[in-house]
Formats: sequence, C-alpha cells, structure tokens
Amino acid sequence: MTGQTPTCPRCQIGVLKPELATYAGVYRGLFISAPSLPCYCCDVCGHREFDERALAHLDALVGQLSLPHEPVRSPAKPAAADPDASDLGRQPPLKR
Ligand SMILES: [Zn+2]
Repeated sequence: MTGQTPTCPRCQIGVLKPELATYAGVYRGLFISAPSLPCYCCDVCGHREFDERALAHLDALVGQLSLPHEPVRSPAKPAAADPDASDLGRQPPLKR
C-alpha cells in the first residue's frame, strides 16, 4: 500500500487509517490468531487491509509451524485363532 491517504478499495469513499487489529485466518490447515497486527481500517465502512510487511513477518513465523505429525503406529496384531470365534460380542459370564 502506498500513498498518504489511501482511499478504501471497497467503498471508494472512506480513508484507510492505520491501527492495530487482530488477524485471524487459516494457514496450511492451522487456525492463526495474531493480535495487535498493523493494519489500515476504513473510517466509513470498516474495511481492513493488513500491512503487507506485517503479513510477511507473520508468514515467516507461521512457515516454521506445521501440523502435528501422526504418531507412527504399529499395525494391529492379527487376532489369535479363537476356537470360540462364534462367541464374538457375547459378554463373558459374571464371576461371583
Ligand atoms: Zn470503506
């Protein structure tokens, strides 16, 4: 964004003024919330454009993050040959 008093690209009436706002978005499947990020807010319609340098910094930070990896799981053991296979699902008798 260049210029001293940029006009709002949405309403074409308001003027974008610098302020701090919370950026929230999804990046690579991660929800990101970054408070106090520099942005430009329209004084008429409230449209916000975040500062490109701030977004570049955020991108650099987030680029180091990744989704947690699935733990390596060993395959389930094959079921032992059960002579009472037909009893699957039946409750064992109560012990007294
Ligand atoms: Zn506007």
